[in-house]
Amino acid sequence: MAGTADVVVVGGGVIGLSAAWEAARRGLSIALVDPAPGRGAGWVAAGILAPVSETSSERPTLARLFCAAADRWPAFAARLEAATGLATGFQACGAVAVALCASDREALEGLLAAHRALGREASALSASECRSVVDLLSPALDSGVLVPGDHQVDNRALMTALVEACAGAGVQTIAERAAALELDAHGAVAGVATARGDVVRGRWAVLAAGAWTPQIGGVPAGVLPAVRPVKGHVVRLRAAGGRQVFSHVVSGYVYGRHRYLVARADGSVVVGATVEERGFDTTVQAGALRSLLDDARLLVPSADDWEYVECLAGLRPGSPDGAPFVGATRVPGLLVATGHYRNGLLLAPISAEAIAEHLTAGTVLSPFEAFPPDRSGISSASSGPSEAS
Ligand SMILES: Cc1cc2nc3c(=O)[nH]c(=O)nc-3n(C[C@H](O)[C@H](O)[C@H](O)COP(=O)(O)OP(=O)(O)OC[C@H]3O[C@@H](n4cnc5c(N)ncnc54)[C@H](O)[C@@H]3O)c2cc1C
Repeated sequence: MAGTADVVVVGGGVIGLSAAWEAARRGLSIALVDPAPGRGAGWVAAGILAPVSETSSERPTLARLFCAAADRWPAFAARLEAATGLATGFQACGAVAVALCASDREALEGLLAAHRALGREASALSASECRSVVDLLSPALDSGVLVPGDHQVDNRALMTALVEACAGAGVQTIAERAAALELDAHGAVAGVATARGDVVRGRWAVLAAGAWTPQIGGVPAGVLPAVRPVKGHVVRLRAAGGRQVFSHVVSGYVYGRHRYLVARADGSVVVGATVEERGFDTTVQAGALRSLLDDARLLVPSADDWEYVECLAGLRPGSPDGAPFVGATRVPGLLVATGHYRNGLLLAPISAEAIAEHLTAGTVLSPFEAFPPDRSGISSASSGPSEAS
């Protein structure tokens, strides 16, 4: 027997860690099972917190969930920093979205329309106005949009702080791979079996293993959502001088490709990201690296002079309808928290709150009401994606 807790959280990525910490803060005993807590896609990610830029005016309910998530970030970051004494790198910095050429203007128009439909601030900029916000931007840009409500967090500082916060809140970490859910004679959760054959007993289980969630055994057919891995490369560069090279997130549309540059306080710059359907493959490919670097220098020509630090590929937990799966399933005691696709960092605080709310009060947090985990047609027994948001 590996342990006993009220709740067994499977997966210590940004979602599992946030949920474990929030539930522990509310007085529940938590065991977190993960062979490598604090890694997963969240370690690779860029750290943009962009509620509207990542949805569209055709998905207002989803966009409202993303906005509710973004609104929780300042308090979440402050709470985490106070609990751990560690910085998260959260910055209420805003973003400038730019179109490289006339054919990319349509994307900006969509962005403006989506912000206006939701009553969020955004304003059109000329090319020279873009450069007055970020002076390193290329003089060859077409136009832009200023988005004051997009922010950033240093994803790796965040993961480190979450691991620390969980330890400080008494979360018991079991550094093993979860193999299967254990059910009792009535079909309710009894615990989680690890790959070594130990069982961690618990009344509840929260499956938050990102793209790997459907691989957990012992779950009745049709209960787990059809989450799939969506590969993304990011490149990390470092500018000389060890200071932040620009304050706003740069979000660029480059001949139809969506790229971004996120400058951190220490002089590093994250360039992202590709979106690829390649299964569980995290090979770093030369073509992806080349494409990201080419697009980065089209947006910010001085990127060519910066030091190359690394290129990594991670697996986003893609969801068939672009919305996450957070909440209770029809198996008594079984919750899921997965399918956060391109927005797991943005959605971590609100997902954690939703899980803790269900565990302590049995209620569904209102922004998630439209997205029950068992919404029809998207269980792991059903077929592939219907939307790539
Ligand atoms: C290139 C890229 C850029 C991104 N940029 C952003 C961004 O700017 N903003 C944003 O909000 N989001 C971004 N994302 C998305 C974000 O990273 C994900 O949505 C988020 O990490 C999902 O969190 P998760 O905890 O569900 O999964 P993960 O972060 O993948 O964590 C899953 C965890 O489960 C563990 N695990 C797997 N199998 C098992 C098992 N059997 N037993 C126990 N544990 C297991 C893994 O070890 C891992 O720790 C990006 C993702 C990528 C790849």
